[in-house]
Amino acid sequence: MKVIVIGTGIGGLCAAIGLAARGCNVEAWEAAPAAGGKAGTTLIDGLAVDTGPSLLTLPEAFDAALARAGVKLTDLVRLVRPDPAFLYRWPDGVALPVYSEAHRTLESVERVLGSNARAELARFLAHVAQTWSLAAPNFIYAPGVALTDLFSPRIVASLAALEPFRTMDAAICRRVKEPHLRDLLRRYATYNGSHPGRAPATLNCIAHVELTLGGFGVEGGIHRLVEALLGLARERGVHFEFGRPATRVLVQRGRVIGVEASGLTVAADAVVCNADVAHLTGTLLPEARAQLPDPGQPSLSGWTGIFRATGKVEAAHTVLFPRDYSEEFVDLFDGRTPPHDPAVYASAPALAHAAPRWEDAQPLFTMVNAPAGWTGDAAPLAALVRARLGAAGLLGADDPLRWSRTPAELARSFPGSQGAIYGGSSNDMMAAFQRPPNRVPGIRGLYLAGGSAHPGGGMPLCALSGRSAVAACLADAGAA
Ligand SMILES: Cc1cc2nc3c(=O)[nH]c(=O)nc-3n(C[C@H](O)[C@H](O)[C@H](O)COP(=O)(O)OP(=O)(O)OC[C@H]3O[C@@H](n4cnc5c(N)ncnc54)[C@H](O)[C@@H]3O)c2cc1C
Repeated sequence: MKVIVIGTGIGGLCAAIGLAARGCNVEAWEAAPAAGGKAGTTLIDGLAVDTGPSLLTLPEAFDAALARAGVKLTDLVRLVRPDPAFLYRWPDGVALPVYSEAHRTLESVERVLGSNARAELARFLAHVAQTWSLAAPNFIYAPGVALTDLFSPRIVASLAALEPFRTMDAAICRRVKEPHLRDLLRRYATYNGSHPGRAPATLNCIAHVELTLGGFGVEGGIHRLVEALLGLARERGVHFEFGRPATRVLVQRGRVIGVEASGLTVAADAVVCNADVAHLTGTLLPEARAQLPDPGQPSLSGWTGIFRATGKVEAAHTVLFPRDYSEEFVDLFDGRTPPHDPAVYASAPALAHAAPRWEDAQPLFTMVNAPAGWTGDAAPLAALVRARLGAAGLLGADDPLRWSRTPAELARSFPGSQGAIYGGSSNDMMAAFQRPPNRVPGIRGLYLAGGSAHPGGGMPLCALSGRSAVAACLADAGAA
């Protein structure tokens, strides 16, 4: 069976590997000159520096995605457990180190915020562990979810733990009174680009994934993971064409017959689209729009930059919270503007991934949230980020900004995305049920892999989307 994979992001690479491992003849077409998609990299003064993800969670999702090829993630890359993983800082002087092991985080919370806060977090983590044990098999690892699942006996029996009718924020405030902890836990909504006051409380299981299962680095940087997936795909016979943007998916009598790239037509029995779904329905195959759910509100975008930093960086990942974090979400989702006083995230690859640094400085990746589709002038935001990082001592006065990307530039690099980082947002309780499935109904041979399809954005979920696309494709071909 000949399959063309459009796009070589994490979902596309995992799909290509899974299909090739089952004997398919796989070609992967990539518009950009290199693989990785949003998990990209740039060269700064001789160092390859990641421009996208900085934290890997749920490595076992990659094991699941690569199982068809008989490979585990740790066969491909070495994982790093940064110590501490995060340093959360607030304007009132509170600085809270957080670790990859929950017991160390709890000790740290007790030291910094007191024993009540420790007890609150421990209870919260016990609760979200239960949420995760229900959500993971039913929504994350499951090949798809349907609205009818919400009424299945197993879900109905689990509603108290899943809390789909409560928001993340409401569920946090019910259990946690300590204001710094509330900020820390609310921020996990942004891990899929959502609003903690609107996303269902089920998503509080993200706290379990990071705080209990652990946040990891990839030795050398996230680009090592992309390189390893690319190498594995090649080893299994995937043929790559870089700089080849697909322009149309060709369909005849409800069945995929090939793909077109400006002037070139290649026949295929199946297509896995790893581009944003809106690019498929807007450009590559507009007739697919009628077959797929409305994508809803996009997830957040962001302004990102990389400094050549000489300041004192104490943790792999630093979050500088503003005075009132709740205002960030009002600006982002009601005002449709970047926050006037944002939470500033900074990640040091040398600490997060044991990646190389320069002799006199290190790369410091930084990000603030911005609405998808925002096209305003990012210069004031960049200046604000510099001032905040400088005041916190992470940057020296003259440290240069060596690379940056605005939401509008992100949108241009990833057609259809509007610059959204994680596909559709989860800003209502139906979001999981409205996400496009991995098999496009009504068009035989067309599959979706990537952050804008089930189960959603973030590297581990994209890997699982690749796995589900492969399973659907092989099942339809009678080769599962
Ligand atoms: C700044 C930033 C920070 C992030 N931080 C994290 C993090 O810390 N942890 C985490 O897990 N995730 C993070 N993410 C999210 C994560 O990077 C994405 O969810 C994931 O990498 C997306 O993978 P994907 O499979 O959806 O493919 P994408 O990365 O969306 O790639 C799609 C590919 O398709 C190609 N393409 C599009 N159209 C065509 C066409 N017509 N023809 C050929 N090719 C085409 C594109 O060029 C691209 O290479 C971050 C993302 C960004 C941008």
